[in-house]
Order: sequence, then structure tokens, then C-alpha cells
Amino acid sequence: MELLLATNNAKKVAELSRMLASLGVSVLTPDNVGGLPDVDEDQPDFAGNAAKKARAAAERSGHWCLADDSGLEVDHLGGAPGVRSARYAGEHGDDAANNVKLLAELANLPAERRGARFVCALALADPSGQIACAIEGTASGRILDAPRGDGDFGYDPLFLFTEPGFDATGRGFAELEADEKSAVSHRGRALRTLVEQLPTVLTL
Ligand code: IMP
Repeated sequence: MELLLATNNAKKVAELSRMLASLGVSVLTPDNVGGLPDVDEDQPDFAGNAAKKARAAAERSGHWCLADDSGLEVDHLGGAPGVRSARYAGEHGDDAANNVKLLAELANLPAERRGARFVCALALADPSGQIACAIEGTASGRILDAPRGDGDFGYDPLFLFTEPGFDATGRGFAELEADEKSAVSHRGRALRTLVEQLPTVLTL
């Protein structure tokens, strides 16, 4: 199976490609198809934006397309930044500014009030643009008091995964090896579920 990853985020392409490669799916990137159509991410939830991106890419390219929409929901902020995660500090893709703003919003809050979760919605569109499969994965933890580590992207330096059964010896998401993060991340979880469903999806 050949699958176009409908994202321009190099970090997402890397994480998704690595996981799909080990499962025997060959991956196309936007560069292989002359780029992706512009999509206004105006839906109220992650699933709606993921579906919109997958559908648009499939209609343009004629390939099976996988799109991801993801972000961070912080309890103290009523679920913000949510679908606005990438644009939280106003400038699209400015991870450093987003992290500074998040730390300021949570200043002086104790650990037990810093709960948060990453959410990843994946949508798989068939070559005609129909959504064949939609999955959501989450990873729960809390927001650290200060950035830690320089791995990966986005809010990773501020996120400590706290679900039971994962021994990261206190390391935050940006301090994990890529495979360690994928094992528990919202995107890794969503993608593994999607891959389990692929055989059924592809016989539709
Ligand atoms: P999207 O490209 O509209 O889905 O925006 C996703 C945004 O959510 C990114 O810019 C990051 O700020 C954040 N995000 C999503 N997944 C992750 C992750 O795995 N680590 C850190 N930040 C993430």
C-alpha cells in the first residue's frame, strides 16, 4: 500500500514514516506529489480538521492520504490551546513563543493542577476523498515548570507523561528517544490503532 502523508510538518512526517515503515506501508510525502492543497483548519475539533486535510489531499493527488490534527489540552485552561495549539501565541508554528505563553498562563500552579493531554486525530481518505477511517489517540500527563530536553517539537519540552506503567525515570517528552515517545504518544497510539484497522479498511 502507498500512502501520502498529508502534512508539511517534518517532525510529524518523521514520526509517522518511521512507524509505517516498520509495518510495510510505503510512504509518499508532499514533495513527491508537488505539495498539498491549502486547507483552512477552521473546524471545532481535531477530528474535523484531520478529515478536512485528508479529504483535500486525496482529491488533489488521487492517493490514499493520511492526515493528522493534533494539539495539547490543558485542564486549567479549559482544554486550551486545543485546536489552536500551533497558533497559541499568534504566530503559526512558533513553538518557543507558544511554550513561553503556556508557562506564563500556568505560573505558580502546583503540579497537581497542571494536568494536560496531547490529542491526535488521524483521518485516512481513500483516493476519491472519502474518509475510510478516523481514529483518536491521547497521552496524559502534566505541564512542567520549565522546559526540559531538546528532542522533537512543539510542547514536548514542557510535557511530562504520567500514565501508569511507563518508566521514563522522570524524563519529559523532549528527553525521550524517538521510539520511546512513539510507544506512548498520542500519535503513536492513534497510528497503531489505524494500522490494526487497515486490513479491514482496504477491503471496503
Ligand atoms: P497541527 O499541525 O495543526 O496539527 O498543530 C499541532 C500543534 O500541536 C503543533 O504545532 C504543536 O504545537 C502541538 N503538538 C501536536 N503534537 C505534538 C507532539 O507530539 N509534541 C509536541 N507538540 C505537539
